[in-house]
This record gives sequence, C-alpha cells and structure tokens, in this order.
Amino acid sequence: MARYTGPVCRLCRREKMKLYLKGPKCDSMKCPIERRPYPPGEHGRDRVRQGSEYQGQLREKQKARRIYGLLERQFVNLYEEANRQSGITGENLLKMLELRLDNVSFRAGWGSSRSQARQFVRHGHVLVNGKRVTIPSYRLRKGDVVSLKEKSRELIVIRHNQDTLDRQVPPWLEADGAASVTVRDLPLREHIDVPVREQLIVELYSK
Ligand code: SF4
Repeated sequence: MARYTGPVCRLCRREKMKLYLKGPKCDSMKCPIERRPYPPGEHGRDRVRQGSEYQGQLREKQKARRIYGLLERQFVNLYEEANRQSGITGENLLKMLELRLDNVSFRAGWGSSRSQARQFVRHGHVLVNGKRVTIPSYRLRKGDVVSLKEKSRELIVIRHNQDTLDRQVPPWLEADGAASVTVRDLPLREHIDVPVREQLIVELYSK
C-alpha cells in the first residue's frame, strides 16, 4: 500500500503541533517546530486563518491521518468500516488505528516512530502468533501475540531503541519480555493518547 514520502516535518508545522513522526529528532532542539512554529510555505507566517467549523474538522482528520501514516483513501475506508460497527464511530476508528500491526510494534518500543515500526514490519522482522506478517495495516485481535523474529532481536537499531526509548506499553497490551507483546484487550479511548478530537472527524465525514 502506498504511503506518504514527502517531507515529514512540514506535516507537523501544518498542524502547528508536534506529531512525533521522526523519532529522537522530535525531542531535540532540531525539531523545526521549536524554531518555526508556523505553517510551511512562503506566506505561512503571515497567513491568518479564520477558524471556521470546517477548518477545525479538516485539521483533526489530517492530524489523525498523519499520526498513523495513512493516505486519504485508506483512512476513508477505515472510517466507513468504523461507521458500520456498533458503538461510537470516532472511538471505533481510533481503536482500529491502534490495532494496526505497525502501531503495536511502535507501542512495544521496537520502532522509534510509527514509520520506522512500519519498515520493520515490511522487512519481515515482526511475527504474529509465530508467523511472519509483512502487512503494516494488519489488524490485530484480542489474544494475538506479536513478537520480533529471533534474529531481528539482535539488530542494533532495535536494541538501541529498546535501551533509549523506555516506552511503557499501554494497558491493553502486555509485554512478555522485550521482544514480545500480547493484545490483552481491545483498546479503550482513555488509553489512546493521540491528541485528536475524533468527534470532529465524524462530523466532517458525515456531511
Ligand atoms: Fe514533527 Fe518530529 Fe519533525 Fe518535530 S522533528 S516537526 S515533532 S516530525
């Protein structure tokens, strides 16, 4: 599946907030948001936008899409699926995003960013219930065990991430050592720490 390959920090600047798309750089002074906290482009600094209702909804949708690294079509498909399910559509959407294999590999602390975790999945370093799965959007279910391939556990980049990130797994995941996590339960909204107001996304797509 296609993915965005353009400049990443522009996406954060467009949303005027850190989306943490680049791993260690995001916490350093090299983060462009620290120096240029205004939208990109020649007139980004001067542009004064009227905060219309539509603008607010659009920005929330773009933010969610960019945090999880989805293109528009994938995101719309996911929204439509969330809408068909029972329960609150916005929460269903966020739960499905959280249950993606690349996101769980990120939450487990193997990748410094979701895009790096996605690459680990694509390169076959991640197993689901003992079988190699190379589809980043693969949706996990309750009880699934996600682990690193035996050989991949020694990769310098993964070991470095595990030593330096010190990321705690969310309550719906259970870490079985450094190289394996189990989906203990489906995620609840209060356990999803992304700064997105999902209700606005639902309003945008309901028009
Ligand atoms: Fe966003 Fe990270 Fe780039 Fe900062 S360094 S603008 S947080 S992607």
